[in-house]
Amino acid sequence: MYKNHVIATKNELRTSPFGVRTRNGRKEQHNGWDCVCENRIERTSNIDVIAFADGEVVSTAKDFVMGNYVNIAHAGGFLTCYRHLKDNSIKVKQGDTVKAEQPIGLMGTTGDSSGVHLHFAVKVNSSNISNGSYVDPEPYLTGAKSIGSGTQSAPSNTALKVGDMVRILPTADKYVTGETIPIRLKGATDEIMQLSDTSRNPAIRNADAVLLKHIYSWVKKSDVQKI
Ligand SMILES: [Zn+2]
Repeated sequence: MYKNHVIATKNELRTSPFGVRTRNGRKEQHNGWDCVCENRIERTSNIDVIAFADGEVVSTAKDFVMGNYVNIAHAGGFLTCYRHLKDNSIKVKQGDTVKAEQPIGLMGTTGDSSGVHLHFAVKVNSSNISNGSYVDPEPYLTGAKSIGSGTQSAPSNTALKVGDMVRILPTADKYVTGETIPIRLKGATDEIMQLSDTSRNPAIRNADAVLLKHIYSWVKKSDVQKI
């Protein structure tokens, strides 16, 4: 039924949609989308949860509500979240680059969960779980909407100019100087202060890069996206 997938069996059966729902007699906002396997015989067996799209693992931990969880940042400020994973099943760690459909852990029922299922959430304008806002994952699963892929490059880089606001792509790796870009800056937004073609240093001038207001090193133009 779905075009894009979050479990390896690719037969997601939605058990709870995004939005307001009644649970234990109380109304609550469900910030994600729940599924099990369509063939419920598979429900209790070891089903791989897979990354929705290319991206970078920004956090993974255990929480009493979310259970074992993985959060993946994607290009364009998208974040996908996978919760209630089985104990000791998480296969990725913070900083790992993942490909679409790569297994990241097993479906489980850890945290505030009443049975084996996957809670999948999508955030926009987000670089980590503490920022951005939750949106309905359903249109991303049906293919009606798409999220940035890790290999996607910024579409309007040739037109970048001083004063533009840009986001550093989650897939950005190194500054022009060769130093590693810290994870906390991936997905961060900042203003362009200078373009490399105005630099007096020939190495910088030829690097096709931008200098941002609060990040004191040159970032490749291909590693930023205008917002
Ligand atoms: Zn849920």
